[in-house]
Amino acid sequence: MLVTIFINNEWHKSKSGETFLTINPTTGEVITEIQKGGKADIDAAVDAAHDAFKLGSPWRTMDASERGHLLHKIADLIERDGSYIASLETLDNGKPYSEAFSSDVQFAVKSIRYMAGWADKDHGKVIPADGNFLCYTRHEPVGVCGQIIPWNFPLLMFAWKIAPALAMGNTVVMKPAEQTPLTALYISQLTKEAGLPHGVLNVVPGLGDAGAALVANDKVNKIAFTGSTEVGLKIQQASGVGRLKRTTLELGGKSPYIILADVDIAQAVEAAHNAVFYNQGQVCVSGSRTFIQESIYDEFVERSVERAKKRIIGNPFDLKTEHGPQIDETQMEKILGLIKAGERDGAKLLTGGKRHGDKGYFVQPTVFGDVEDSHVVAREEIFGPVQQLMKFKDLDEIIDRANSTNYGLAAAVFSKDIDTVNYLTQAIKAGTLWVNTYNAIVAQCPFGGYKDSGHGREMGEYGIKQYTEVKSVITAVHQKNS
Ligand code: NAD
Repeated sequence: MLVTIFINNEWHKSKSGETFLTINPTTGEVITEIQKGGKADIDAAVDAAHDAFKLGSPWRTMDASERGHLLHKIADLIERDGSYIASLETLDNGKPYSEAFSSDVQFAVKSIRYMAGWADKDHGKVIPADGNFLCYTRHEPVGVCGQIIPWNFPLLMFAWKIAPALAMGNTVVMKPAEQTPLTALYISQLTKEAGLPHGVLNVVPGLGDAGAALVANDKVNKIAFTGSTEVGLKIQQASGVGRLKRTTLELGGKSPYIILADVDIAQAVEAAHNAVFYNQGQVCVSGSRTFIQESIYDEFVERSVERAKKRIIGNPFDLKTEHGPQIDETQMEKILGLIKAGERDGAKLLTGGKRHGDKGYFVQPTVFGDVEDSHVVAREEIFGPVQQLMKFKDLDEIIDRANSTNYGLAAAVFSKDIDTVNYLTQAIKAGTLWVNTYNAIVAQCPFGGYKDSGHGREMGEYGIKQYTEVKSVITAVHQKNS
């Protein structure tokens, strides 16, 4: 049994003595037993973060450039142990090792380094205020940040959350997803090795009740959450009970992927395939409503089915594997249930649709044709390897259809016509709009949602702003001169 609650740079057992199991989704077997953090553990972690944030503490008095340096050291250590961390991620989450290593680990490192650079560069202004005043702004850390993350990109979400918070001088209590706690715990140890002062980063694995206890704790100043819209709504409400906590929410999506008739079909088919099947479809920006202009629809459908049939499914540690298991049995059953609903609604099941094998939680890459906007598979976030192919005629029609969802996380437009592209990029309501590409998420660009996909932005300069308060300091001066 691992001792897995990280508070004040030390490992603790849960105060209740309870544990939970983390399962390998490729086999369904237990990997290890984890200490189950509850309210008492969360409260202890918040106290540690609160103390670390006190005026005069090592963290509050540290040079901003030194905070950046510490983040670079953490990135160095993640790089040093990259293959081990990628293996842990594949074991715990089931994603292909090739992706865990070349994408998740590398992108986590880049994200931390990007934020490290901001540590001593985000600053206030001197403002020429009316009257005999000296007015300037300070960008101050918000304080204790509660961060709650999901299981689909455990390492990357951990990096995305802690990096801007620490760069701006906040302290953190992190609650990783119960399905995938391992990489967060391993990296906690690396942050200690890098020299992060005690109490600055605390990690408490646990279930939803631990997340709820974090949101309810009055010493927490901000909650940053990535996960389902359902839980996001609860967090938004709970964050306003008694106190007004700052919140940033990165939630679900049902992203439209619009392909005009003038595209290179082979390229668009491959991109659409990756947009929906990457990470077994467990991606919040999954391009799960593929709209194809009618003159190329039949050819596009035929090629998409061919491509899905070729997708290599199997052991995620095999370097040739493109497609691993879903995260757990619950998700697998949910996806299979939605596929049945798609068939019942009259969508045409063109390939897949079933569980793959009888061990682990694999779902066959599935393609539906003739999907209509009213079908369940066109409305609900499936979070699985299920592609919806839909036909459209013209631009005005597609704008309404693409926007007729409560989500607004991402969208894509594939066309060579600049006027069409410009028109659609203005018309589609989404936090990220890709043109002739998909899943291009980079550390320098903000990421987040419109509508029920959340609010606030992560990464980029916009992401930094979510972790500071702006204070105006107005000082009387004897005489102001220009
Ligand atoms: P989830 O909302 O069930 O869980 C996410 C986290 O919230 C977990 O750590 C969980 O323990 C915790 N939690 C559960 N109930 C809670 C409560 N009442 N209070 C506080 N915390 C609570 O989501 P999931 O099933 O783990 O992940 C899948 C969902 O996440 C999908 O809807 C997906 O679109 C979304 N997601 C969004 C993004 C994004 O950036 N927008 C990224 C990844 C995943």
